[in-house]
Amino acid sequence: MNDKSGHAHSELPEVALRVRALETILVDKGYVDPAALDAIVETYEIKIGPRNGARVVAKAWTDARFRERLLTNATSAIGELGFGGRQGEHMVAVENTPKQHNLIVCTLCSCYPWPVLGLPPVWYKSPAYRSRAVLDPRGVLAEFGLTLAADTEIRVWDSTAELRYLVVPMRPEKTDGFSEEQLAALVTRDSMIGVGLALSPQFGGEKS
Ligand code: FE
Repeated sequence: MNDKSGHAHSELPEVALRVRALETILVDKGYVDPAALDAIVETYEIKIGPRNGARVVAKAWTDARFRERLLTNATSAIGELGFGGRQGEHMVAVENTPKQHNLIVCTLCSCYPWPVLGLPPVWYKSPAYRSRAVLDPRGVLAEFGLTLAADTEIRVWDSTAELRYLVVPMRPEKTDGFSEEQLAALVTRDSMIGVGLALSPQFGGEKS
């Protein structure tokens, strides 16, 4: 876009421009290899996503001993499935029950469990979500279309650089005999952040 003075203006938001400027300097000075940066971005954008977390949840639903290990030491239990590393070094799994629903936020910035959920959705990073999840969790859930029983307590967990959380949603009804794979298909990203529930079988996974 050109303004009246004829200067070219980028459409990129300021943060993106600053990131690009930093990357240029780092590459010019030889501090980072652009191919290595691309590989990291591609890994988390394409290869690692919420299907990892869905597998963790499905295993917890079907394997009581794994569930126990997950709730005791999530980092190591998640590691059993081969998931771990960057932004997932210290994981805590919190389990939904009829009495307690768990909701994850990072009030300070956008800390998120990358190895199991990939990169955070845009709304997760928004100031509105970050403040309102704490002040009015029930209202936030309603905006996501989720209304919980009045006597279900909502517990909000504030992620930090040190601790990342994964919600284990409740296993949907009428899923007896489902395989881990069929169950994993019912586990949405939002259900593992706590702004949704796992899908009912008629809407999600294909039981054959
Ligand atoms: Fe953060």
